[in-house]
Amino acid sequence: MIEILLASNNEGKIKEYEEMFEGLDIKLYLLKDLNIVSDPEENGKTYIENALIKANALKDKTNLYILADDSGVEFEALGEHFPGIHTHRYAIENGGNKLLNPKLAKEIGGTKGTFYCALALITPKKETFTFLGKVNGTVAKECEGNNGFGYDPIFIIDGFDHPNAYYSEEIKNKNSHRAKAVESLIKFFKEKNIL
Ligand code: IMP
Repeated sequence: MIEILLASNNEGKIKEYEEMFEGLDIKLYLLKDLNIVSDPEENGKTYIENALIKANALKDKTNLYILADDSGVEFEALGEHFPGIHTHRYAIENGGNKLLNPKLAKEIGGTKGTFYCALALITPKKETFTFLGKVNGTVAKECEGNNGFGYDPIFIIDGFDHPNAYYSEEIKNKNSHRAKAVESLIKFFKEKNIL
């Protein structure tokens, strides 16, 4: 059994990791389960750097596996790599995704975008590994669906007809940027005979 401390306070992400690890011999601990408060400044220049910052902030606090993630979206119509590593801040500065999503749908609906998820893993022996998942998609012309979180009501993964929020969690968790990153993580655990 692998015991993993998930370095996230984001309820939407936590739910997805719980679902993606279901059925595997993995026990997931949340920061609140271990009474750990951690919110380091994410001043990295890449998703990977930011995931490493979040994981390293917990390095001396536990001997469990530590898993941190950093994600973001890049909308072609808004410029190179934008909002990218500033995706969270961009939503906040625009009044949150409830207000921002319809605005984006109206202004850049039909254009292309890419979602990224970086994972940083620190093992009990304090070795560090990173993984990156990405999916290409299109901005919807209007918001649709109530599932997921963040930009899910406007992001249509290539090959699908509706945004993520329209589909069940099961479908999103098989096809999202986070699902791709977790796929690499699980492959790594299996190759190393940890899982
Ligand atoms: P962070 O990884 O916590 O820095 O989050 C970056 C931003 O991307 C946040 O605004 C999230 O809401 C958004 N985000 C990350 N993953 C997803 C997703 O799976 N769907 C929709 N929005 C997401």
